[in-house]
Amino acid sequence: MTQQLLDHDFFYRGSAPTRVVAPHNREDAIQLIGQALREGCVVVARGGGMSYTGGYVLAEDSRPVVMVDLRQLSQIELSTLSNGWVVVDAGVTWQQLHEALQPQGLRAVFGGPLSGLRATVGGAISQNAAFWGSGLHGSAAESTLGLEVLLADGTVLRTGVLSRGDEGRSRYFGPDLTSLLVGDCGRFGVKLRIALAVEPLPAATDSASFSFEQPINLLESMQSIARCRLAIQQVGFDPLLANVRTRRSSFADDFRTLSKVLRGSGSTLKGLRSIAEISLAGRGFLGDAGFTQHVMCEGLDTHAVDSKLAQVRRIVSDLGGREIENTIPKVMMATPFTPLNGILGPNGERWVPVHGLFNVDRAQEGYRAYLETLESFEAEIAAAGITSATLFSAVGSTTTLMEPMFFWQDELEPLHFDTLEDKVIKRIPRNPPNPSARNQVAKLRQAIMEAWKPLGVGHFQVGRAYPFAASLDDVQQRVYQQLATTLDPHRQMNPGVLGL
Ligand SMILES: Cc1cc2nc3c(=O)[nH]c(=O)nc-3n(C[C@H](O)[C@H](O)[C@H](O)COP(=O)(O)OP(=O)(O)OC[C@H]3O[C@@H](n4cnc5c(N)ncnc54)[C@H](O)[C@@H]3O)c2cc1C
Repeated sequence: MTQQLLDHDFFYRGSAPTRVVAPHNREDAIQLIGQALREGCVVVARGGGMSYTGGYVLAEDSRPVVMVDLRQLSQIELSTLSNGWVVVDAGVTWQQLHEALQPQGLRAVFGGPLSGLRATVGGAISQNAAFWGSGLHGSAAESTLGLEVLLADGTVLRTGVLSRGDEGRSRYFGPDLTSLLVGDCGRFGVKLRIALAVEPLPAATDSASFSFEQPINLLESMQSIARCRLAIQQVGFDPLLANVRTRRSSFADDFRTLSKVLRGSGSTLKGLRSIAEISLAGRGFLGDAGFTQHVMCEGLDTHAVDSKLAQVRRIVSDLGGREIENTIPKVMMATPFTPLNGILGPNGERWVPVHGLFNVDRAQEGYRAYLETLESFEAEIAAAGITSATLFSAVGSTTTLMEPMFFWQDELEPLHFDTLEDKVIKRIPRNPPNPSARNQVAKLRQAIMEAWKPLGVGHFQVGRAYPFAASLDDVQQRVYQQLATTLDPHRQMNPGVLGL
């Protein structure tokens, strides 16, 4: 890893670590990290580095900071497949895991995030990631069966099916510590190995796409389909995001039009209706997209899949949706992990999302609160040239994920150049630094999080972006603090992440 990549992620900047270690294997990791801990250093784990919530970006610390690049921990242990799981080193990418399991006719039940070409299993489990398989099986935590974690005292904690190391054990024998360590962003230790549930590849797959006039109907449709467990994945786009994906151009104009529609309408809901009307009339920026929903189904045979899709179509039709070409889900299913060029906007803008996890009965309010926040920032958004678009998804049958994303012109970071394909690097514009727009985006994200707080919102990939510790009641705070103190009395493991 070059020196330039050490002090930032896709959105946050911090101070560079004192040194970087890149262990070759688990034993090496235990030795190198153990040594850094004994020397009194702070230790920060880094997987693929594909995040944007400050998870591995540290504020200055008076102690030396050692960043651990885990990407060379790359063993995939297939001998446990007959038990229904695979044991993976933390540095394995989701693409590598996919390639190892596919010839066995298998896949991981949670199949990874969209960034899986570069994102590691250790990173995703530390973020509690979601996407492939999440429509049916929820986030990564639900199918993580065991962990091997290096603690701050240099010992290795094994949990769940890995409790007896390679001997294996049934996952449950009293309380299981596994879930407590998933989503910790490395605060409780460095994950070395992970046991993930596997399942046979589906015999048949198909997909369908729909368009709705109203976001309310899109959300209802998504939630009904999730409740009936019909789809392995679902994703939805607001008109602006549909537009980004299909055209990747004229985005600023489109956003201005949306702002105008919302502005001229007096109320958000009325504004949304107007957007739908424009869309239906085929005028302006929406084309025919509307609020689109993409539903991916699987089954034991084509008959089973057809029957699920028939039920999906009934749900959609009852909610006034109309079927459109299913190009997007087809392409997504064919190539689950594409190069990460989506880290920029359609015209080479910087990009950063903010997301919320809602109980289904709060999702509509969540979308409204987001739009109202946008409206309240209207002047600043216009002045800074910021655009936004939103993605929706179902995570299991009880949670709706909403992910507004922002685009603005700004200087790119070394991590962008390290991630983008060469052909993209050649054609993107080089913009000067634009700290005022970046600060405005930070304020907007913060304001959206605040607006969502009363709705009981939750978050994955907490890092240093989402107020986990501050969201806890007094008793929870005490328990988490005591846990952090027990596992890491000298605050050496990624201190400050999770707010702990
Ligand atoms: C284009 C794009 C698409 C994305 N799509 C998705 C998506 O579909 N779903 C989703 O959930 N997220 C998504 N993300 C966010 C992110 O890429 C994922 O959450 C991913 O899992 C991060 O993995 P990583 O290996 O890059 O972790 P990193 O960014 O390296 O690290 C993330 C956090 O985990 C900690 N960490 C890393 N490895 C370990 C370890 N072995 N032990 C302990 N702590 C560790 C780090 O300290 C940090 O706090 C996306 C990001 C991009 C840029």
